[in-house]
Amino acid sequence: MNSPDPQLHHSLLGTYESRRKVHPKRIDGFFRRFKWLIMLVTLAIYYGTPWIRWDRGPYAPDQAVLVDLANRRFYMFNIEIWPHEFYFVAGLLIMAGIGLFLLTSMVGRAWCGYACPQTVWTDLFQHVDRFVDGDRNKRMRLDAAPWTAGKIARRLFKWTIYLVIAFWTGGAWIMYFADAPTLVREFWTLEAPFVAYATVGILTATTFIFGGFMREQVCIYMCPWPRIQTAMMDEKSLTVTYKDWRGEPRGSVKKAQKHPGEFGDCIDCNQCVAVCPTGWDIRKGPDISCITCGLCIDACDRVMDEVGRPRGLIDYLTLEDSEGEIRGQDHRPTWKKVLRPRSVLYFCVWAGIGLGLLFALSARTHTEISAAPDRNPPYMLMSDGEVRNNYTVKLRNMEARPREMRVGIEGLPGAVMWSDTMSGDDAARTIDLPVPADATQTVRLYVRAPQGTDAQDFSLSVVSLDEQAETDAVEVRFVTPGDE
Ligand code: SF4
Ligand code: SF4
Repeated sequence: MNSPDPQLHHSLLGTYESRRKVHPKRIDGFFRRFKWLIMLVTLAIYYGTPWIRWDRGPYAPDQAVLVDLANRRFYMFNIEIWPHEFYFVAGLLIMAGIGLFLLTSMVGRAWCGYACPQTVWTDLFQHVDRFVDGDRNKRMRLDAAPWTAGKIARRLFKWTIYLVIAFWTGGAWIMYFADAPTLVREFWTLEAPFVAYATVGILTATTFIFGGFMREQVCIYMCPWPRIQTAMMDEKSLTVTYKDWRGEPRGSVKKAQKHPGEFGDCIDCNQCVAVCPTGWDIRKGPDISCITCGLCIDACDRVMDEVGRPRGLIDYLTLEDSEGEIRGQDHRPTWKKVLRPRSVLYFCVWAGIGLGLLFALSARTHTEISAAPDRNPPYMLMSDGEVRNNYTVKLRNMEARPREMRVGIEGLPGAVMWSDTMSGDDAARTIDLPVPADATQTVRLYVRAPQGTDAQDFSLSVVSLDEQAETDAVEVRFVTPGDE
């Protein structure tokens, strides 16, 4: 990899390279259209998802994707994750990380080129530039022009559009953390919590600055991912490649006509550089500045069509294929480039975690019990010689409807129990307790065992009294005077 753009000129102090503004030219072609598609899909997902409704019954929110911080729940369509199941979220994050590795091993820096939020929003802002100020040449002229009233008006108009997009982006983010329609109403009537305004403010500012002004600087200097990717690239990785063995020595069509056979296919038109969203000249070779978006391929193919030379002077190639092409060999089939052992391995790990999560999701019950014995005192010796232990029991109902649950004593012969909501006279081996929908009910249980009972472990079991009859149990210790 080369160092970042050597065309950047040095500041007076020479301690850093000041930015040379990039004015990418409009281009059409296969990769540009693919970028459009990905941009529309990703933006639609981001802005639209919080507005999708999902019926979970009267006791749970009807927002399809919701991080419900107040109630400590994460909803994603049919899936509801409770705090004690955070490993599902951790599993999804690990899958996302391995997914990036998988993508990189299959198609190089495609994430950077097409789907990374920084890329998508930068692209969006560059289209705003084009809409307000015109294409590359007009924008460059306007940039160099003095600050007249017209230029100021244009800039203000453009920055206002930036700001609206940035605000919309920050606003969409908070919709994932509360019921979207309610939050929008509260936001505009100033009833939303302060953190909502603070989050929107911060995200508006970062989107405005990163997408509107810093753009490719974020990819080149701030983001750690290109560095990690660089370490993952090898001779089998797909990158955008300028075929210097075919293009050099470069020279205009006129020169080539004057001196037949002396020049390569590159006519040095600079179109590949003009369309590049990061301002990189791909003819200098691969670089961290190149996000492999393929727009230079579109530009060069168009030029090749115009001058009647074969397309593909710039192309997606692996180093191995480049060397093969120089030797006159055919390229390996695309499926071989994409499905290499490393990709298969990443896929197996990725799919294995996914299947494990699916299995855990399908196998989990929506009824749980946990119990903590009182420590101080650990037991109570009654006047008739019976021993009593107290427990704080939590009954978890993960269904979106209230349920009756039957708690029972397993083991501990002769013992009976009662709860803090009933009389000790009604003590029994099992008691029925109502548990609200989508909630954890905490109850105090008092367990009484006959005189002479030894200290021992026993189980508190629970069964839901509905057609599912889900069960769970927890082992606890019954403490007697000899067992302290
Ligand atoms: S667009 Fe193609 S022909 Fe033009 S300078 Fe770039 S590589 Fe050469
Ligand atoms: S050099 Fe080509 S592939 Fe790389 S970022 Fe620029 S336009 Fe995209």
